[in-house]
Amino acid sequence: MTEGSLFDLTGHVAVVTGGNSGIGLGFARGLARAGADVCVVGRDTERNEAAAAELSTFGGRVLALSCDVSEEQQVIDTFGRAAAELGRIDSCFVNAGVSQGFIPFVETDLAEFRRVTSLNLDAAFVTLREAAKVMLAQGEGGSLVATASLAAQQGVPRGQSYAASKAGLIAMVNSIAVELAKHGIRANSVLPGWVETPMTEGAFAWDRFRERVHPRIPVRRWGLPSDFESVAVYLASPASAYHTGDTLLIDGGYSKF
Ligand code: NAD
Repeated sequence: MTEGSLFDLTGHVAVVTGGNSGIGLGFARGLARAGADVCVVGRDTERNEAAAAELSTFGGRVLALSCDVSEEQQVIDTFGRAAAELGRIDSCFVNAGVSQGFIPFVETDLAEFRRVTSLNLDAAFVTLREAAKVMLAQGEGGSLVATASLAAQQGVPRGQSYAASKAGLIAMVNSIAVELAKHGIRANSVLPGWVETPMTEGAFAWDRFRERVHPRIPVRRWGLPSDFESVAVYLASPASAYHTGDTLLIDGGYSKF
């Protein structure tokens, strides 16, 4: 039994990749609001700094680290720095990702498939591995969270590379969950539905897409980055101590309609 609030993250250190924008910034805001120290990892230094300035208003320590997660050595160095500067890492949100250019399947070349899978899967593999190494060395457990997608379960027309990368990510996370449970390290995947972020600006600007998809969302609105604040707090905190190897679908009921 845990003492105190199940959702108090004071003293907890979280790393969020792609934490300067969209869903990742939603995760980071939730964690910071709950008292955690947060390390925002992203490619764009200016956006990292802007996110860090906002997150610092919640009172915890905030570290912004520039890193291209597709570069293995940069990821290794980033986790080394985060652990050294913040003292430890208790949770890691592997969230940086890319969408694919919605090209018909037969016109999609291998380079495009590899562009998507190399970030959503290969880079996620390296990030999860480096976070797990820090947690194993600490010997106090931890929580790994990967942002997958509803697309991994349903498939998306003209989205085969993206859907495949996210399905692979879920399988990887489940395998990590089973292997590392004995060390107190949990691993789960979050599956957003359609969320208003820079990534979906193109699709949302398309009338036909909005007219077809919006009526199929039972809660009657698109997802927002703020919908992911509480998800992050739950998955980072002792409230989810028995929750591992799972997918959390956050889609406003879209998949059930
Ligand atoms: P976003 O564009 O706001 O965020 C993507 C983040 O990933 C950005 O911070 C970007 O800088 C970062 N990133 C991309 N390539 C990187 C690299 N090489 N190195 C470091 N950082 C990199 O979009 P978002 O919608 O918030 O996406 C976040 C995650 O959510 C992604 O993994 C995406 O696939 C997933 N997702 C989004 C939706 C949606 O509807 N928006 C739905 C399902 C899943």
